[in-house]
Amino acid sequence: MTVIKQLFKKNEEWAASTKEADPEFFDNLTEQQTPEYLWIGCSDSRVPANQIVGLLPGEVFVHRNIANVVVHTDLNCLSVIQYAVEVLKVKHIMVVGHYGCGGVKAAMGNETFGLIDNWLRHIKDVYRAHKARIEAVADDEQRFRLMCELNVREQVANVCHTTIVQNAWRNGQELSVHGWIYGLDDGLIKDMNVSVSRLDDVSSIYSMDGES
Ligand SMILES: [Zn+2]
Repeated sequence: MTVIKQLFKKNEEWAASTKEADPEFFDNLTEQQTPEYLWIGCSDSRVPANQIVGLLPGEVFVHRNIANVVVHTDLNCLSVIQYAVEVLKVKHIMVVGHYGCGGVKAAMGNETFGLIDNWLRHIKDVYRAHKARIEAVADDEQRFRLMCELNVREQVANVCHTTIVQNAWRNGQELSVHGWIYGLDDGLIKDMNVSVSRLDDVSSIYSMDGES
């Protein structure tokens, strides 16, 4: 059996066992999706959103890209945030980074990887913003871990700086933005305690006055 055929076989087995456990499962999902969470994570194959937090299909809306970056000109990511916040009305957005992130590591070096270098520039900007703090750490691994954490913090801020999230808060919508980091070596998520739930907690330069 080819590798691809195996995937279809696995899919059939999964669909059958899921239906056996809950005969209504797919009928309910077809009706609507009502996830409470938007997960913005890394594309890394070792960090699958649903599996890590034990959520079923229908329970988490997901956007993943290399190194979980939220860029204010990325129409793809902004569209996901807008749909999640304004239509699905998720209550929580979690930016989930991970230690050992290849994208962060690449951004910390000088090797070229082609087109992706342009994407990694956003992470180099994180490095530049925290250069003194990062370079004060002598140990390579600890410095790498710190950069993975700082990248999450910056992307949480970027989510909070979108007009989408700010308008939701202004309209009284219940919405929290969180920063988490995942350990590839132990499978555990650490809350970085950078959650933001209201406009007053957004630094004034990024706080927008009206709808846009
Ligand atoms: Zn990664």
